[in-house]
Amino acid sequence: MKLVFATQNPNKAKEIEAKLGTDFSIIGLDTLGITEEIPETAPNLEGNALQKARYVYQKTKRNCFADDTGLEVEALNGEPGVLSARYAGLQKNAEDNMALLLTNLKDKPNRSAQFRTVIALIIDGEEHLFEGVAKGTIIETKQGNEGFGYDPIFVPDGYTRTFAQMGLDEKNLLSHRAKAFDKMKEFLKTK
Ligand code: IMP
Repeated sequence: MKLVFATQNPNKAKEIEAKLGTDFSIIGLDTLGITEEIPETAPNLEGNALQKARYVYQKTKRNCFADDTGLEVEALNGEPGVLSARYAGLQKNAEDNMALLLTNLKDKPNRSAQFRTVIALIIDGEEHLFEGVAKGTIIETKQGNEGFGYDPIFVPDGYTRTFAQMGLDEKNLLSHRAKAFDKMKEFLKTK
């Protein structure tokens, strides 16, 4: 089965491609000539994932899916959440975002957080949502160079290393995105 992955984030594409197996293949947006930034202006992850998938479906009429992810920090009442990409400003810079988060968490004893991914799938015109959550802790200083975004400050529960200290294969065994994608894969097997 061929699906368009509605993302312009090469890191997300790499993670999903490593999980495809033999049943699925992905068509990238560049192959379809979609190079403009896809709007994500909804107030929550579900809305943004649907907005991105609908944008691509309307343009291409191909089965497609999109992922929207947020880091939800308990002591900050779930922030940055849907604003994770532009937490420190519209420049969407991972270093700035992590620095602001660490500043806002200074002196807060509760450092629990979760990554939450919502995948919106549009298949034959029908919309479906899949969620994946990875719970963990925000550490005080960045560790590791793998991954992307907030990975250097997030240690998943049950581990002592950040996502950025794991290789892609290990992150893919436990990540929010991998869990959401696995649910979508199970659903697609019934199609
Ligand atoms: P979006 O889903 O592309 O809107 O991502 C929201 C923000 O979360 C961006 O700043 C991403 O860099 C960050 N992000 C998304 N997925 C991950 C992840 O798997 N690890 C770390 N940061 C992520």
